[in-house]
Amino acid sequence: MRIVLLGAPGAGKGSLAVLLKNSLGILHISTGDILREEIKNNSPLGKQAKEYIDRGQLVPDEVVTKLIEHKITTDKRIEKGFMLDGFPRTLKQAEDLDRILKRANKPLDYTFNLESTTPVIVQRLGGRRVCKNCGALFHMKNKPPKKDGVCDVCGGNLYQRPDDNPATIETRLKVYLEATKPIVDFYAKKDILIKLDSDLESEELQDQVLNLFQSGGTHKKKV
Ligand code: ADP
Repeated sequence: MRIVLLGAPGAGKGSLAVLLKNSLGILHISTGDILREEIKNNSPLGKQAKEYIDRGQLVPDEVVTKLIEHKITTDKRIEKGFMLDGFPRTLKQAEDLDRILKRANKPLDYTFNLESTTPVIVQRLGGRRVCKNCGALFHMKNKPPKKDGVCDVCGGNLYQRPDDNPATIETRLKVYLEATKPIVDFYAKKDILIKLDSDLESEELQDQVLNLFQSGGTHKKKV
């Protein structure tokens, strides 16, 4: 199963990806996570990416596309399938991904478009906390950790992403709407786009997706 997850920041791509990874056993590839890892390691790529990420802007297409191409052509685990989370984010990235997957003979099965309303997104991002150590996601109100500031999964410290502040959230939403909408049309034309209501909780969303796979798994709906 090869899937692309589309959706605004806070639409719940990350949470759905973790649930699907566990139930389908496919690789979760998040460009945001890869970039944050580069920043943590203080690599040249990380230093370059940080300037964009802190402003809520997109990292240049060539940089992220190279990261994805490297992953798809070198990571053996993609044989079982994969889920792309946060990529593609521009039409150029979508077109390049198409070429990369064609060359690798691994076409996409589905693109899920997670649609949610702005108030829900702002509430989700404002309360989001992430484990510094294992990346597990929490929410101050919707999914609080058992112990304040401590990860339930590994005991690591929780932090608020620097780009999860109101001003940067607003920029990210604007950037998303401008740059990502054409991608929805791109995949709708390919007939692999499926619309999901991501104002729902991630477990409900996961059930919708799993039901879809169980009900034949091959019928692809247009928006
Ligand atoms: P979110 O979906 O919550 O914005 P991500 O973790 O996917 O978070 O991305 C965080 C930041 O990393 C983005 O705001 C952007 O600066 C950068 N980024 C991630 N993926 C891409 C991409 N495909 N193209 C360009 N920039 C990206």
